[in-house]
This record gives sequence, C-alpha cells and structure tokens, in this order.
Amino acid sequence: MNDLPAPEPRINKSDDEWKRELSPAEFQVLRRAGTERPFTGEYWDTRTEGVYACRACGAELFTSREKFDAHCGWPAFFAPLAEGSVRYLRDESMGMVRIEVRCTACDSHLGHLFEGEGYATPTDQRFCINSLSLTLRPAADDDGASAH
Ligand SMILES: [Zn+2]
Repeated sequence: MNDLPAPEPRINKSDDEWKRELSPAEFQVLRRAGTERPFTGEYWDTRTEGVYACRACGAELFTSREKFDAHCGWPAFFAPLAEGSVRYLRDESMGMVRIEVRCTACDSHLGHLFEGEGYATPTDQRFCINSLSLTLRPAADDDGASAH
C-alpha cells in the first residue's frame, strides 16, 4: 500500500477511444471513477467459478476463489489474483480517505479497498469492485481459452 510511482499503463487510450469501446455506464465507472448502485450489478452475489477480468482491457484481476459474500451490494474479494495486477491510489473524494483500486494494465477504475472490517477472510481486506468493471470468465470456458 506504499505510494509507489505509478507505472505507465500498458494500454493508453484516449477518452474517445474508450467511449467507442465501452457503454456509457461502463465509461462512467471505469474511466470516471463512478460507482454503480449497490445490489444492481451483475456479479454482486455471483458464485460461479472463474476468473474476473478487467472489462476495459481484459487483464485478469480476481478469481472466484477470493470472492466472498460481504453483503455490501458489490462483488467483494479478499485479495487480487496476483500482486501487481491492480494498483492503489489514495482517494480523498467525498470527504473521506479511501484507497482506490485500479487495473494496472489500463489504469481503469475498479473500486475501493477497505481493511480491518472484521471479515473472517485470510486478509481482512475487502476489494469492493464494481460489476461494471469486470467480466466473468466462467471456469468451464477457461480450458478452451488458448485454443482459438
Ligand atoms: Zn484494465
């Protein structure tokens, strides 16, 4: 959680390019750090096994193994798929200090990280991520992923 210098995102597109690729709602969340309304997203209570990829660039970010039921209205994970797949920024908007979580590869907004809330998970961290920022790749489809 140190304030390391931001790595240059591997994927660097203009707003116009993102707007062509994303729906208006996706653009608002991913590129404008918006937040979908709780309990409205696609994945907040999903238990399907698989990998959650960045909806903007496809980088693999989280898996169903670290997903847990936080009853908060958004998909919650206790850890990212790998260290370095997401990056952290200090967010002082809305009158509070929060940790913003972004995709390292394309610098899109994913959600926020909360710690020490008392969840019975291995890390006691809650990555509170917008469904709109993610695409679930179900495990059954994974085997054929490299064969097309
Ligand atoms: Zn991304």
